[in-house]
Amino acid sequence: MIRVNVERIKDSEGETLLFREEVDLPCIDKEEISFAGPVNIEIELISSGKKIQAEGTIQAVIRRPCDRCLSPVEFLVEAPFKEIYFSTGTNQNNVMQDEWIPFKNEIIDIEPEVIKSLIMALPMKVLCEQNCRGLCPSCGQNLNIEKCGCSREIIDPRLAVLREFAKIKHGEKNLE
Ligand SMILES: [Zn+2]
Ligand SMILES: [Zn+2]
Repeated sequence: MIRVNVERIKDSEGETLLFREEVDLPCIDKEEISFAGPVNIEIELISSGKKIQAEGTIQAVIRRPCDRCLSPVEFLVEAPFKEIYFSTGTNQNNVMQDEWIPFKNEIIDIEPEVIKSLIMALPMKVLCEQNCRGLCPSCGQNLNIEKCGCSREIIDPRLAVLREFAKIKHGEKNLE
């Protein structure tokens, strides 16, 4: 839980609060993410009555397995943070928009949104190095460390389709 106390700015329009903290977060197993250090949070919260707009940046050094060889890779992620929190108080019947995040009393737990913004800022591909050789698909050997004895057939599925197509064209195979 990352607790932000908004007691001072809640219900007073135009008041702002700067939340700057380093927090330790547990690893996120589902996304295969762990943190190599504390997560840096810097968020400004602006009150407009019941609504509190939060905007800032989250910085973390994330550890994740390489997409090809699975060895751990560490890299810096800088994620934008932008959310609107909405004070429901004791009245649950307040009109609010879907993307607003409700909170009661004076404490907002921003942890779910911090994690969400980090996940959204992750690179599409994580590689230990540009030309990582990956693991052998037959025996699992890490090919960056050592070659294995397996024969190396091309297993790219797109190429396999092309090859089948070529066979049909040359009459080696009949169309069903
Ligand atoms: Zn790798
Ligand atoms: Zn092999």
